[in-house]
Amino acid sequence: MASPDEVFNLRSPEPLGPEDWVAAAQAAETQFAAFAHYGPRNPAKQFTGRLGERAAARWLERHLKAQAPERCENGGDLLVQKTFDDAARLGAKGPGCDLRVGVVGIEVKTYRNRSWKNFGISVSATQLERIQEHSRAILFWLIPDRPRDENPDEPNGAQFLGWISTGAVAAKGVPHIDGDGLRQIKLPARSLSNPGELIEGLCHGNLATWRRIESVVCRACGSQTQQGICWRCQEARQDRRSD
Ligand SMILES: [Zn+2]
Repeated sequence: MASPDEVFNLRSPEPLGPEDWVAAAQAAETQFAAFAHYGPRNPAKQFTGRLGERAAARWLERHLKAQAPERCENGGDLLVQKTFDDAARLGAKGPGCDLRVGVVGIEVKTYRNRSWKNFGISVSATQLERIQEHSRAILFWLIPDRPRDENPDEPNGAQFLGWISTGAVAAKGVPHIDGDGLRQIKLPARSLSNPGELIEGLCHGNLATWRRIESVVCRACGSQTQQGICWRCQEARQDRRSD
């Protein structure tokens, strides 16, 4: 039987036109200016994020409409709310999630082709705590390193790599402390769900509720885990390896 992805062709790249690059650059600049007083930030990284959010919103709108157009209208439970626009316009922290489909908050994480190939997907431990407060799913998108007109060899559009429910990150991920001592949860490709399951999950309301996972104590060392990840044991493990 064909997977939902094959049926809906959900893996085909979401086209990015020149207007997307312009709008993303403007939004990144507004946000950069608004947050400047928080210290140095990276406008290129914000620009990448804005592009991914635009692609993700359009992709969701199109595929949800194909499933249930009446539920995507104003007031409908599948209406895609571009909360990222609010954050950029207001220069404030915004509503905490990047997008919202009905009541479901969604986080969009966008990678440039090069950094994704080199470092793969990971969510920092502190970031996960923040994301879980507002969002039920994290979507991973890949965008070309440069606009199409500068590099005709690159794919013309954003690629949806997959997604994970925020409640599953700690259980499915691989803990790792990076070179800067930051706690990262790496997400191998096999830990991600496919795009078709996201549309199904949203249509059936499977993502609308999520309970915070109780943190347990590590059986090996007795310290508090992050939803099952013991960072103290991880530290010891990596220290041993590097000795
Ligand atoms: Zn432990």
